[in-house]
Amino acid sequence: MIPDPTVPTGPGLTPAPSDGAEPTGSAPQPNPEEVNRREFVHSLAAACASGLPLWLGAIRVPAQDPGPPGAPGQDAADHWYGMGVDISKCIGCGRCVYACKVENDVPMEPGCFNTWVERYVIDTKGEAVVDSPDGGIAGFPSAPLDPNVRKTFFVPKLCNHCAKPPCVQVCPVGATFITPDGVVLVDEDYCIGCRYCIQACPYGARWFHPTKHVAAKCTFCYHRVRQGLRPACVEACPTGARIFGEIEGRATPLARFVRFNDTQVLKPNLNTRPKVYYAKLDMEVR
Ligand code: SF4
Ligand code: SF4
Repeated sequence: MIPDPTVPTGPGLTPAPSDGAEPTGSAPQPNPEEVNRREFVHSLAAACASGLPLWLGAIRVPAQDPGPPGAPGQDAADHWYGMGVDISKCIGCGRCVYACKVENDVPMEPGCFNTWVERYVIDTKGEAVVDSPDGGIAGFPSAPLDPNVRKTFFVPKLCNHCAKPPCVQVCPVGATFITPDGVVLVDEDYCIGCRYCIQACPYGARWFHPTKHVAAKCTFCYHRVRQGLRPACVEACPTGARIFGEIEGRATPLARFVRFNDTQVLKPNLNTRPKVYYAKLDMEVR
């Protein structure tokens, strides 16, 4: 089934799952060699070096974190990046959401989020109610005391930078791709705005840019990572709920986080191989 590109999806909305079929749109098929992704990556890094605004709000580096994972000049193929999220540490303050918007020039309007935070309220029968007012960017109003509420917790979400990303598989022009270091990106110069990838993402992680008319999503702040910096959301989190870094290698903070926390990924049955690992994830989270 070809996804309907006129149906919008995004954080807070439920996207149609991909059936894995290649779209049959009439868009031109460029020579892959013309899509010089390294140039795109280098242009991101150059833009950062030449003064792209960096988020300068309250920055806290968790004391146990030894430092940024990458460094300028390193070969991307030597890395394999992911993120860890400790649900028990998230207080739903939304500073990560705001930091991401500022750092990545994401429009301050509904439906435009590279990352967002959901609140889960679980009642005594195990039923879950989920809300995410404006992506949680301003935090959450206090939930009324209710004896039928068993627990409440916050779940930060973002692109999972899947190792087998269905969004990449359905793009008819090769505009979305995975880098050698495992970051899924969109080349705005090649995106034709067909929205197939938005429909194909089973996590609702992509959105349609209202003025650029291209698909948009979390980049793991790739322009920062290639400079040896952490993603803005990680820098902004006051509790250290987010950990960014190398997945492979036994000694890295993220590898240790994954190994010692019995982490889970979202929708593992889809075999997309997500690289955002959640600790203390409740079974009700989808
Ligand atoms: Fe693609 Fe969605 Fe996976 Fe991100 S979470 S890589 S947008 S399928
Ligand atoms: Fe949760 Fe940290 Fe984001 Fe605040 S900044 S909502 S604590 S992940």
